[in-house]
Amino acid sequence: MKASIHPDYKEINVTCTCGNTFKTGSTLGHDLQVEVCSSCHPFYTGKQKMVDTAGRVDKFRKKYGTAAASAASTAAAPAAAAK
Ligand SMILES: [Zn+2]
Repeated sequence: MKASIHPDYKEINVTCTCGNTFKTGSTLGHDLQVEVCSSCHPFYTGKQKMVDTAGRVDKFRKKYGTAAASAASTAAAPAAAAK
């Protein structure tokens, strides 16, 4: 390696919003906060990640609250839960 042209490669702590922490090598120089990691990403967990879906459905029902809308959403709910 050539002298004094390479950034410092050190071990840093990465903290995810799910609470998971792990160490990695980086030239960043400080600890890192991430939104998603291998412990909580749907690709690795195999579970569908619903972010505020219930809140959005409630909002929709309040705004366009009809019998048809609630019937459709309750019909769709078991299919979504089965995933
Ligand atoms: Zn995570």
